[in-house]
Amino acid sequence: MHPSENAKGEAPAVAGVAPEASAGAKPQRVIPLVNAPEAAAASCSGDKQAVRAAAAKAGAGEILDRYAADYPVGPHDQPQSMCPAFGSLRVGLRMRRTATILSGSACCVYGLTFTSHFYGARRSVGYVPFNSETLVTGKLFEDIREAVFHIAKPEDYDAIIVTNLCVPSASGVPLRLLPKQINGVRIVGIDVPGFGVPTHAEAKDVLSGAMLNYARTEIEAGPVPAPRTGPKKRPSVALIGEVFPADPIGISALLQPLGIDVGPVVPVREWRELYGALDCEVAAAIHPFYTAVLREFDLAGRRIVGSAPVGVDGTAAWLDAIGNAFNVPAERVAEAKNKFLPAIKGALSAAPIRGRITLSGYEGSELLVGRLLVESGADLKYVGTACGRTEWSKADCEWLEAHGVRVQYRASLEQDLAAMDEFEPNLAIGTTPVVQAAKTRSLPALYFTNLISARPLMGPAGAGSLAAVVNAALGSKGRFDTMRDFFDGVGAGDNSGIWEKVPEAKPQFREMHRRHLEKQARRRKAEEMI
Ligand code: SF4
Repeated sequence: MHPSENAKGEAPAVAGVAPEASAGAKPQRVIPLVNAPEAAAASCSGDKQAVRAAAAKAGAGEILDRYAADYPVGPHDQPQSMCPAFGSLRVGLRMRRTATILSGSACCVYGLTFTSHFYGARRSVGYVPFNSETLVTGKLFEDIREAVFHIAKPEDYDAIIVTNLCVPSASGVPLRLLPKQINGVRIVGIDVPGFGVPTHAEAKDVLSGAMLNYARTEIEAGPVPAPRTGPKKRPSVALIGEVFPADPIGISALLQPLGIDVGPVVPVREWRELYGALDCEVAAAIHPFYTAVLREFDLAGRRIVGSAPVGVDGTAAWLDAIGNAFNVPAERVAEAKNKFLPAIKGALSAAPIRGRITLSGYEGSELLVGRLLVESGADLKYVGTACGRTEWSKADCEWLEAHGVRVQYRASLEQDLAAMDEFEPNLAIGTTPVVQAAKTRSLPALYFTNLISARPLMGPAGAGSLAAVVNAALGSKGRFDTMRDFFDGVGAGDNSGIWEKVPEAKPQFREMHRRHLEKQARRRKAEEMI
């Protein structure tokens, strides 16, 4: 029976609408479209307050409250970059024997699958489409359920990840009612709405946290498969964060004198690694925004250590913290420090960076990169991260501020651009719009995601790894000046381009648009006050 029908197979009446009861009348179906406009307005460009209220009314209040607690927002309280769901989608797509199904508007799913394949997913993304009727009648949930049953084959998959995007989340499509497993294939349903999860980085935490939660309940229920490499032989540390592949190797070398191994990296690449991660005594919050993941480690009774072994000071402090967490005798920690700190110092001084820099990004590792730049000799003025403040990056923030760097959590694009204008750096490292803005100012710029976070940062291998790319960019100012001169005279902003005649200014349209924006802002303010 359809959930929206009663025992006789009739649709329930909507309050205030009397069902047609005359004998012989054609059977009528009441389609409760009253919620459709609210749900359909759920998008990264819609009215967040209204959509959140609609989602809470539709039963998603608990999830949204948890997200609000896990990912407190500031000025950056809505996607200013890519759709947040890309983060969780990417985590699922990188796992072995894991299927991914999206439920959301076709345009969102198109964008997400396009981006996944652009980044080399080489894996199909499942999609359960909907329309207004299937959304509001509950048929969408049945379609998702059917899709899950269809692909839940244990010979193909360990797990199926189902993700509600904005519209199904706002409509309260209840993924929690999906079976926990089908034929041994685990089913994990998550909501990743743009109006609840601020960044794609934090969406990685949503999925990883949900999977760890599932794995923890499996561990509590009985024996689970050992890691591919066999059971662990020594105490170990799970690394939290999508680090560069060479970094776990570097960290492993740092930990050898302490008699500690590196365990799995979360987000994991395979379901059984979740068990291995939870089997570690300590979780190292290398990327500090994994609130849900760290909650699972905490619930499993594991200790958590913040920051990371970057540069001389960072590595020394991190080795102390790890030694303390494992009760390693001080002399063995000192042995590790004596072995590695001079090497790190040497690598940093052999590859100095000279220049004024502003840095921003949305990966969550911005503060660590900032520390490395400062220790390399850069005059770093500003670090902006789109991620929120957590206790696990407190030491990095304090260290940077003590070295004269302004740190901005939940940095908005406007704040990143304002920092660039204020400090007039020799190099701006940032997201795509920051780099674009820098180029228009004839300022050398580097993409954080592609060029900076795709490098080792930890231990001796990380020290000095930034110098080549950063120094090359710092030395490219002349090229930017040449480009500016070449394009001189083609206009700027909305007047740029090649025109047959000079574009006619329409001040009345600008005025109209300005009034429209003001009206929108007033309406938002009034709604906030209600
Ligand atoms: S799912 Fe992503 S792209 Fe679609 S409306 Fe939500 S935040 Fe925007």
